[in-house]
Amino acid sequence: DREPDPGDMSDALRVLRRVFGYDSFRGEQQEIIDHVVAGGDALVLMPTGGGKSLCYQIPALVRKGVGVVVSPLIALMQDQVDALRALGVRAGFLNSTQDLDERRLVEAEFLAGELDLLYLAPERLRVESTLALLGRGSLSLFAIDEAHCVAQWGHDFRPDYLALSELHERWPDVPRIALTATATEATHAEIASRLKLQHARHFVASFDRPNIQYRIAPKNDPKRQLLELLRTEHPGDAGIVYCLSRASVEKTAEFLVKNGIDALPYHAGLDARTRAEHQARFLREDGLVMVATIAFGMGIDKPDVRFVAHLDLPKSVEGYYQETGRAGRDGLPSTAWLAYGLQDVVQQRKMIDGSEGDAAHRRRLAAHLDAMLALCETVECRRVGLLAYFGQRSTPCGNCDTCLTPPEAWDGTVAAQQLLSTVVRLKRERNQKFGAGQVIDILLGKKTAKVIQFDHDALSVFGIGTELREAEWRGVVRQLLAQGLLAVEGDYGTLVLSEASAEVLGGRRQVMLRREPERAPRAAKAGSS
Ligand code: ADP
Ligand code: ZN
Repeated sequence: DREPDPGDMSDALRVLRRVFGYDSFRGEQQEIIDHVVAGGDALVLMPTGGGKSLCYQIPALVRKGVGVVVSPLIALMQDQVDALRALGVRAGFLNSTQDLDERRLVEAEFLAGELDLLYLAPERLRVESTLALLGRGSLSLFAIDEAHCVAQWGHDFRPDYLALSELHERWPDVPRIALTATATEATHAEIASRLKLQHARHFVASFDRPNIQYRIAPKNDPKRQLLELLRTEHPGDAGIVYCLSRASVEKTAEFLVKNGIDALPYHAGLDARTRAEHQARFLREDGLVMVATIAFGMGIDKPDVRFVAHLDLPKSVEGYYQETGRAGRDGLPSTAWLAYGLQDVVQQRKMIDGSEGDAAHRRRLAAHLDAMLALCETVECRRVGLLAYFGQRSTPCGNCDTCLTPPEAWDGTVAAQQLLSTVVRLKRERNQKFGAGQVIDILLGKKTAKVIQFDHDALSVFGIGTELREAEWRGVVRQLLAQGLLAVEGDYGTLVLSEASAEVLGGRRQVMLRREPERAPRAAKAGSS
């Protein structure tokens, strides 16, 4: 047998085999690499784990000069560079974690032509001395990683990225490749225009992750629900649990450990050493559960993450997709499970109202949240909804929760009218506003201390809603909020009418709701509230 003649192989394929030790390209890697090697600009949309890095690393090795990689993931640069060096690739980085001597050394290597790849934090390119340095070397390409950071429409905007449009003016002949794992059509268009990549070829890979089972469950006792999931479906598996706050990360990790699950916390409030140690253990050991804020995970390449659980609602579909996408990179069946409840909606709306930035910024945040809520409340296939958000069409997957147990839709118009008119009466007759709990107690005709204190049992709406259970009423409130037919305001999540409420109250709009599933039966445990 004869080895294929290396002369028949493209330079790119030779590098793939000799340097990286892989046999063949995946997906569109070959087309992308050929295009950039030939000097073309490219905009690459590829899901996490798709193999974006090789799309610029190989062209940087094949073309003459140094490939400059712009990445916001400063914490990972050292690891990326170490990994490349282990393969014999001459790589270096410049970022704010280095002292002057370390920086000087890398600059000298760059100028001497002793680097193939130079990783830069975006803020470095705002410094004139960095640009001057690049001007004195020979460049093979610019790779702009996490390119969605340039888009204000996106969920992860970084002002430093805006300066990247100038690269093209300064180095018109150096090809640029922008890469992201997350982009709706709007973000995608914004990346192209902000980075002046209008003439770039677009490579859009499928965002489908068929081995991930998407499930979104009503939240009632999230830590217990999580424990149940881990015990029944994922014993001994590695996974990530996302929580919104540092405090809930700590509490959840403690709770899991107390219940015999190997769990570690990770959030920005822990010192750098602890974070690095927890991350290293998660990567190295089997079956660890990382309980984390979204500070964890960017750039993490662990193939056998069997589940990603969200105990709080992500702020956008893009965030949700990216976070759940860390499950099952090895292609084996994995679970993306999200617990979501009324309080999530209240809390997130409040955060948006209180957020810094102008009205347009708040509108964007609200639109992101609405899309996420629509995915939660859909009666259709989750995967179809998810892919549609990224502009990709698909057919029902047969694997997500709504495919497996199709939720029933019901006509909730009357219930919605009862609820909205209770809010109206409190306002008109008493000039009062209350949160969902009190409004539901009134509808159910419960004579609680607070109902009696405010004389709410005298309202004409008292007890008009006994056909529904309390959990069902909470579902009604949540879904009305999600559909924009009701609104919340203030620190206590008081319910108020939205602009669209009038259509429901006036009988001009039908309200279709998703039936709340019965709570899954399980042994009652004392003290678990
Ligand atoms: P992304 O940046 O898109 O999330 P990476 O570039 O980190 O993905 O690649 C994900 C994993 O797939 C890495 O472990 C990488 O080495 C591997 N990989 C990429 N391309 C190939 C290929 N052609 N053959 C085999 N493995 C590959
Ligand atoms: Zn489905």
